[in-house]
Amino acid sequence: MGTQKSSNVHWHQGQIARADREKLNGHQGFTLWFTGLSASGKSTMAVALEQKLHEMNCRTYILDGDNIRHGLNKDLGFSPRDRNENIRRIGEVAHLLRDAGIINMVAFISPYRSDRQLARDLSKNDGTFIEVYVDCPVDVCEARDPKGMYKKARDGVIKEFTGISAPYETPENPEIHLLTGLYDVGECVGQILNYLHSQRLIR
Ligand code: ADP
Repeated sequence: MGTQKSSNVHWHQGQIARADREKLNGHQGFTLWFTGLSASGKSTMAVALEQKLHEMNCRTYILDGDNIRHGLNKDLGFSPRDRNENIRRIGEVAHLLRDAGIINMVAFISPYRSDRQLARDLSKNDGTFIEVYVDCPVDVCEARDPKGMYKKARDGVIKEFTGISAPYETPENPEIHLLTGLYDVGECVGQILNYLHSQRLIR
């Protein structure tokens, strides 16, 4: 799925560059890539952070796993191959949003290191891909279980469930490491904002 099928396609260069769009927006386009177990708090964190950034006049967008699987990726399931393709497409969309000068928050389990690395590689390590490890012990996630998913996984209704019957590969060098089992939402959002200030990604 990674190779290009058609050869007669050419890149069209527009008149307006990423820098022009970023100037108009008043900030760079960058990606906060939230990764972690189901119910670790990825969506909660993205929503709370977006609210803060919006109040700061930033242009933002959230790519949320469940929502994207209703549309763009509705043809994909949860086999390793489909999970690869799911994340590959999201990585490309995040890349387009960066090019549009938008601050985008990606909230997907994204369990495989190699998939996250491919998404990161699109940024050419220019500092605009920020991996956020939403770290929460599986027993805490299971006790939260806001959508009843762990129960279904334990009952065998959901197969290949990350953390129960499918692997999660922890990030080795995330830019931000949140401990959502220990710190509340406000404290974790504060930690992200501190990072963004320290990197001069927001003012
Ligand atoms: P995910 O997107 O990772 O599947 P959700 O954000 O949908 O997780 O669900 C996380 C649940 O845990 C929510 O019900 C949220 O209110 C709760 N929660 C409790 N403490 C925290 C915290 N510190 N950070 C994030 N979520 C938390």
